[in-house]
Amino acid sequence: MSTFVVVGGDAAGMSAASKAKRDDPDLDVVVFEKGEWVSYGACGLPYYIKGEIQTLEELVSVTPEQFREKRDIDLRTGHEVVDIDPDDRVVTARSDDGELRQSYDHLLIATGAKAIVPPIDGADIEGVYTLGSMTDGKELRDFVARSREESPLEQPDSGPACHFLESCEGAVGVVGGGYIGIEMAEALAANDFEVHLFQRGSQVLKTFSGATSERVAEHLREQDVALYLDSEVEAFDGTDSIEAVRTADERVEVEMALLGTGVRPRTELAEDAGIKLGPTGAIATDEYRETNRADVYAAGDCAEAEHVVTGEPAYVPLALTANRHGRAVGQTVAGTPAMGGGVAGTAAVKAFEIEAARTGLIDHEIARNAVNPQMDDAPHPPERIERALEEAGFRIDPMEPVENQIDDALDALRPVIPIRFDEVVIAAQIPADYAGSAQAQIRQFGDLEREEWQPDGSWVGVLRFPAGLQNDFYDLVNELTSGEAETRMIKDEDDIETR
Ligand SMILES: Cc1cc2nc3c(=O)[nH]c(=O)nc-3n(C[C@H](O)[C@H](O)[C@H](O)COP(=O)(O)OP(=O)(O)OC[C@H]3O[C@@H](n4cnc5c(N)ncnc54)[C@H](O)[C@@H]3O)c2cc1C
Repeated sequence: MSTFVVVGGDAAGMSAASKAKRDDPDLDVVVFEKGEWVSYGACGLPYYIKGEIQTLEELVSVTPEQFREKRDIDLRTGHEVVDIDPDDRVVTARSDDGELRQSYDHLLIATGAKAIVPPIDGADIEGVYTLGSMTDGKELRDFVARSREESPLEQPDSGPACHFLESCEGAVGVVGGGYIGIEMAEALAANDFEVHLFQRGSQVLKTFSGATSERVAEHLREQDVALYLDSEVEAFDGTDSIEAVRTADERVEVEMALLGTGVRPRTELAEDAGIKLGPTGAIATDEYRETNRADVYAAGDCAEAEHVVTGEPAYVPLALTANRHGRAVGQTVAGTPAMGGGVAGTAAVKAFEIEAARTGLIDHEIARNAVNPQMDDAPHPPERIERALEEAGFRIDPMEPVENQIDDALDALRPVIPIRFDEVVIAAQIPADYAGSAQAQIRQFGDLEREEWQPDGSWVGVLRFPAGLQNDFYDLVNELTSGEAETRMIKDEDDIETR
């Protein structure tokens, strides 16, 4: 029997493990996760801290017991992989019970990313937080409760933290105006904190276009966030715990500070094993997410991927890519090679009452690429399509007019590359047991046309997305609901004019 070992038990790791086991039930699938949580939606953490989500458990899509009992995956939580030996095909994992060695035929590194703590004086004093893990989320939610002189929130039936707040007394500092900083500004403001947001450069959401960032900045001010642009934080003052945030021009007294200063791929394990990093500093892979070592794959926030516009390696650490690439690796390992597609730089963020989104290249990225001499070497779209056709096993018949072959070529390409041929519309009904945790991820899959909560607690959503992705959609829905959701195709490709 062949063994597939996965390091890291969240989006990329558990998607790969589930897909591999589903496609090849005879495969031995072993997952090592150093923490206690698996398959959690870190994206929901700001809303847990805000008080909209009541328990950390609501962020979990599939529990460790369900993975073990229903999916027959050998999931070992509390096991940190400390060494990979690609020559002997063995990993070493450490737990409270000591060290164990596990051999593999295929290995996936899905170790994710960690929050960056910049070298700011006082960054290690009490009251300075990061938000990268479930534990961080719990600490921040406890801070919210504690700072209002309440004991930590009782779970699961306590109300939103803001329910028991009467006055706005505390000031807090948020360092960094990226999506985590902005979502946390909203979460803290909703809990009646006076929020001071410090941004080093001249725009918040610096990976978004200038116009979008300006609109978001304006809205933050409308929501009474004190916004300091071009303000690099130089120090956190305080002896036992934080007392103030200091920049060159300001000293703002605060009772806590959150560092939302970006993430860095967790690559140490891979580097020690001689696995190559790419130009972005994340693990380099080919289109199948395979690294420079045979049968060793990397997916999710620890890896880079090719940008679909520039063809260059890009680092876009977001959940949908982690799920998609994880699933592709699972499928490949189970015997049907799948590429999973590149990244298009798509991201969306909610800032109080408005939502902002981006995709493709935005102004300063276009400018950067325009002067990047490497662009000339980027694979041209026709070459990429040719490669994909080859991948799909489709040969153009030189004796046959091309127009007669287009439909067959498109059919062959559909499963191989997520090209937007046309669109499908699918309704999904998520049973009450899963609705709380699953709908957030499902609604991100495409354009949400309609949604409705049913009296029985289930959620119905109607989504529109590019045709060719429906299998990925079904996989995601099945995975998040242990196969208990219902889906219905409302419009398929044949009903819709080609775009
Ligand atoms: C606060 C917050 C909000 C976010 N919001 C969004 C959002 O709105 N939209 C979006 O798309 N994305 C969002 N993200 C990003 C999203 O959560 C990640 O892209 C996604 O979780 C990446 O999945 P992953 O499996 O690659 O890595 P991770 O989720 O980081 O999981 C990696 C796992 O590997 C484990 N691990 C690491 N090293 C080892 C080891 N040596 N041995 C064993 N286990 C190990 C870790 O404990 C961890 O559980 C957010 C992230 C955060 C923190």
